Amino acid sequence: MSTSAMDRILAAQESIASWQDDLYLHFHRNPELSFVEHATHDKIADELSSMAGVEVVRNVGETGLVGVLRNGSGPTVLMRADIDGLPVRELTGLDYASTARGTSVDGEESAVMHACGHDVHITGLLSATRLLAENPDCWSGTFLALFQPAEERGGGAQKMVNDNLTERIPVPDVAFSQHVTPYPAGEVHACSGPAYSTADSIKVTVFGRGGHGSAPHTTIDPALLVSSIVLRLQGIVSREVRPGDFAVVTVGKIAVGNKVNIISDSGELQINVRSYSDSTRQRVLSAIERIVTAECEASGSPKPPTFEYFDQFPLTVNDGQVTERLQQAFAAEFGDWYTERPRSGGSEDFSHIPNAFGIPFCYWNVGGMDRETYKDAEKRGAVMSEIPMNHSPFFAPVMHPTLDAATKAILVAVLEWAPTA
Ligand code: ZN
Ligand code: ZN
Repeated sequence: MSTSAMDRILAAQESIASWQDDLYLHFHRNPELSFVEHATHDKIADELSSMAGVEVVRNVGETGLVGVLRNGSGPTVLMRADIDGLPVRELTGLDYASTARGTSVDGEESAVMHACGHDVHITGLLSATRLLAENPDCWSGTFLALFQPAEERGGGAQKMVNDNLTERIPVPDVAFSQHVTPYPAGEVHACSGPAYSTADSIKVTVFGRGGHGSAPHTTIDPALLVSSIVLRLQGIVSREVRPGDFAVVTVGKIAVGNKVNIISDSGELQINVRSYSDSTRQRVLSAIERIVTAECEASGSPKPPTFEYFDQFPLTVNDGQVTERLQQAFAAEFGDWYTERPRSGGSEDFSHIPNAFGIPFCYWNVGGMDRETYKDAEKRGAVMSEIPMNHSPFFAPVMHPTLDAATKAILVAVLEWAPTA
């Protein structure tokens, strides 16, 4: 990599600063829910079309799109940003807070907020694309700016793949993605190996026999059955998963009955599972099915339980060689702001995209919290209680230096993989 090319393109960041701020404010104020990001798609397409040399491949998986920037010979580098917001009412108190409302793909109306910071990802990727388009002498190759819908529901990446993504854009050599985190703004971190956990959501329906609340002996009470299942499931992580292996089993929803003197005839549990290996995942899922089925039998259920799987995310495993090369490039350009952080327990569907092409990838993180506020909370041991996480109605990345770092990280990766000859 030529240092001067890097210096020149980083210096050009300043020239797009006010456009970048406006862009961020626009996306922050106009979030849209998963699979219905139509206005977001159109705005991104407009911005990409205004950049010299960028060809826009629209409506890949309906609301996904890709900007293709060909700049001579060299590797093809793909960078992905997810674009969806969440059904959260923003409570940050920022003067640019979202007041948007939206209707989900299931028809439910709610407030909408970029509570996971995907507006940072969109703005960072558009900014890097513009700088690469305006500074063609700083790199050589092809850049793919991929904007993916519906990360939050876990179906967006697969939807793009199913819509012939691999045939509609050049085949990349390497793929990247990034996420803004509740760490100090401007810091960048990337870890080798499993970076994001697998996730599975399961809707379990169990069956009893309904009746009068005064005559429990004539019924099979699903309330007792569901309660017993919740308690018994706690034994999976503590007794069946090897100590040290990561696994989470959370019962996020229980629903039985609707009146005090009626025993219901069925019950529902919604269970969320996370793990960092496919073998642990299989072990936990089969334990859940075994325990639920056995508890139903123990209660004398008239028919077996049903299991519906939804919102499933694959394991995100960063390629060792790619990550090591990226870590060195980040350390050189970010200095002390390149740090090590523990991996998050969150989940991602990004890997469906590189996996569809059969290419290696790295998913890195960029901090977004006000540095002073973070440092102060850290000093008092109050980070967990005072710094709002992604998905919180109070999650409020500071615009700078978060956007600068999110843009710079992409430029560093592209110039590392596709330098001028
Ligand atoms: Zn999220
Ligand atoms: Zn997210």
